[in-house]
Amino acid sequence: MNLILLGAPGAGKGTQAERLCKELNIPTISTGNILRAAIKNGTPTGLKAKSFMDAGKLVPDEVIIDIITEKLAEDDCKNGFILDGVPRTIAQAEAMEKAGIKIDAVVSIEIADSEIMERMSGRRVCENCGASYHLVAVPPKTSGVCDSCGGKLVQRKDDAPETVKARLEVYHKETEPLKDFYAKRGLLKPVENQPAVAETTQAILHTLGR
Ligand code: AMP
Repeated sequence: MNLILLGAPGAGKGTQAERLCKELNIPTISTGNILRAAIKNGTPTGLKAKSFMDAGKLVPDEVIIDIITEKLAEDDCKNGFILDGVPRTIAQAEAMEKAGIKIDAVVSIEIADSEIMERMSGRRVCENCGASYHLVAVPPKTSGVCDSCGGKLVQRKDDAPETVKARLEVYHKETEPLKDFYAKRGLLKPVENQPAVAETTQAILHTLGR
């Protein structure tokens, strides 16, 4: 199963991707996590991406296309993958098609902007492994500590309210047209966000026929 998760920033793509990857036993590729790791490690890609990310803007398509084609060529992606946060523009989706990357389904998590603004203030991520939590909805077992690796949980710089607003604007303008793009290919499966994280996972698995 080659799956794309679409949705606004804060829709819960990262959280759902982590859960789906256990259910479906395929890896998740999150361009956001890859870019944050690149920034932390001070790589050339990280240096290129940082100013865009801090401002809530999209990183240039060519940087993303290089990351994704390299990653998908790795052995652990041979039996399927979940793409979290990519593609985010029509150009990225077209480049993936051109590279022969086959997609089986595109799940779009639907949620109102107002709910996202509320949610983002409680989001925390592990600075070590990138796992995501929410102070209320998905709290870690020990406050401030990642369940999976023991890393420190921090608030993302781009989760500040003004940056979230900018990211939502970018989403509606640049990423939402992908719904049409994939609907035309018969791949789009919209899923309404549910009050509980597990319910949204169930709704996604249901729409995928699992
Ligand atoms: P995310 O963790 O998916 O919310 O991504 C955080 C930030 O990384 C975004 O606001 C963008 O600046 C950048 N980013 C991640 N994925 C992409 C992508 N596919 N295209 C462009 N920028 C991206």
